[in-house]
Amino acid sequence: MKKLKTSWGIFVLVLVLITSILACTTHGGGRGVTETADVIVIGAGGAGFAAAMAAHQGGSSVILLESMNRPGGNTMIAGGAFQSVNPTLQSQLAMTDAHRAAIMALVNKPPHDNFERDLQQTVRKQLEEFTAANRPGLFDSVEWHALQSYNAGDYIGTPELVMTLTSNLPPTREWMTTNGMQWSTNPNINVRIFTVLGGLWQRSNRPEMPLGTGFIDMGVRYVEANSDRITLHLETRATEFIVENGRVTGVRATGPGGDRNFMATRGVVLATGGFGANVEMRQRYNDMGNPPLWGPGLRNALSTNHPGTTGDGIMMAESIGANLVGMEWIQMLPMGDPRTGSLSGNIEMGVEDRFFVNKNGDRFMDEGGRRDYMTNALLAQPDSWMWVICDAQSYPDPVNNRNNFGETIVQLVEAGRAFQADTIEELARLIDVPPANLRRAVDEFNAGVAAGTDRFGRSLWRIRIDQPPFYAGARIPTVHHTMGGVEINNNAQVINTAGRVIPGLFAAGEVTGGIHGTNRVGGNALADIFVFGRIAGTNAAAVR
Ligand code: FAD
Repeated sequence: MKKLKTSWGIFVLVLVLITSILACTTHGGGRGVTETADVIVIGAGGAGFAAAMAAHQGGSSVILLESMNRPGGNTMIAGGAFQSVNPTLQSQLAMTDAHRAAIMALVNKPPHDNFERDLQQTVRKQLEEFTAANRPGLFDSVEWHALQSYNAGDYIGTPELVMTLTSNLPPTREWMTTNGMQWSTNPNINVRIFTVLGGLWQRSNRPEMPLGTGFIDMGVRYVEANSDRITLHLETRATEFIVENGRVTGVRATGPGGDRNFMATRGVVLATGGFGANVEMRQRYNDMGNPPLWGPGLRNALSTNHPGTTGDGIMMAESIGANLVGMEWIQMLPMGDPRTGSLSGNIEMGVEDRFFVNKNGDRFMDEGGRRDYMTNALLAQPDSWMWVICDAQSYPDPVNNRNNFGETIVQLVEAGRAFQADTIEELARLIDVPPANLRRAVDEFNAGVAAGTDRFGRSLWRIRIDQPPFYAGARIPTVHHTMGGVEINNNAQVINTAGRVIPGLFAAGEVTGGIHGTNRVGGNALADIFVFGRIAGTNAAAVR
């Protein structure tokens, strides 16, 4: 009897062992611990948080995976400029003849295609109504935003995606506000809604918190408040998709607990960001351009990006047949810190209120232009080096006014990252440029403010630079953004090389391509990641 009991006990033990081994085996055939949720989101940057929040609001449980030891990605260190039409704030801005001329130049040019022609017609009509009604403030509309974005990307962006982006921005901004996003409450309207570098129009909404921390703070607080349904795994790097019968059903990841399989009953959202920090990958794709956008110097260029911008998600998606688009379009900015490539230390507070000079103290471009144009102009200057010049009006309160990176001008001057002087000539001596040249550049800029244009065709102006103290800060070209990535449709579903949807897989943010074309407009990335992150999360949660 005792022997029978022992045999029975061993049998039960073996049964339990077999059952637990089976439970830990993935549906895709691999091995490891398995965790399951309705929706798996890969990458805890802005797009990932937006997707997780939207999926949760769609009734799903969510697992959010992040390879780094903190959430945030590039979103966390971003300047915070969020492009979105904002009639309330824009109605308090000034509309100049130069603004009007800039609109007319774009609506009157020969259209590239039907999409541009329709946008031109709509914007022309909207501007006529705006003028006839004598509305106050700066004209803007989602169509004007779309027209500028499509044109600035050289018509490589997919029209439907461009329109989805701009038309969804005002409601997405509202959705973010409802979910705890705090926007600047600064009484100076030009601070709350400004023109970011390469933003082309005064529609960059500024968050209350410095850099991109406010966007991530919103996401983290949302996840914490809903921790029963959303789990964030840090230091957990997704390595490959699990695909069953042509459908993406999960992802393998490696982390502190070893390898794990994360299974999704509804959908997987890829939100791993771009590949700006992957030097080999960005050089390889740049060199595939015809002709390459940048020369071999791209390899040694510094970058604004965080180290997790590795392109992992793009490679994972490509390995299961996803189509990649626009991979050769890599954005460089003329605004890097000369030592680190970072955007921090930038003394500009808005495009209208500053200009650039080279080492000779000469202006050399339209400082309100496209980012690729400005970077190319800078690359042609001695040592690819420039000085940003502004005056006291950018910092009415030098101790408290902060740039997008939370820095005051006093801190930057003390740290030797900016120079301050009471006269233009003294400033010229501090930065070692010929004083007569810098004086000529200031006079030229101020003449442009009065005329509303200049020899470079600049159209974004606001105030003369004539109030001491005057400031200068050095800048060089730096790698910033990768416009290419995984192809998606309007529903944020990933498209394969045969032009068909990959079931179960959605993507959003810098990991995707096809929105910004050859050149992303400033402030359009934070806009993109929240619009498409929200769409991806909503649609992943809706899968049945
Ligand atoms: P990210 O925010 O980069 O998030 C992706 C996340 O995925 C990261 O946390 C990454 O670690 C993680 N990840 C990567 N691989 C894996 C993996 N295998 N497994 C799990 N996790 C993974 N745009 C604007 O519109 N306005 C601005 O003012 C602005 N300023 C910027 C300033 C700087 C310094 C930089 C670098 C960019 C700026 N941009 C700005 C661009 C914008 O910030 C980015 O395009 C955007 O934040 C990308 O968001 P994302 O969610 O797609 O990617």
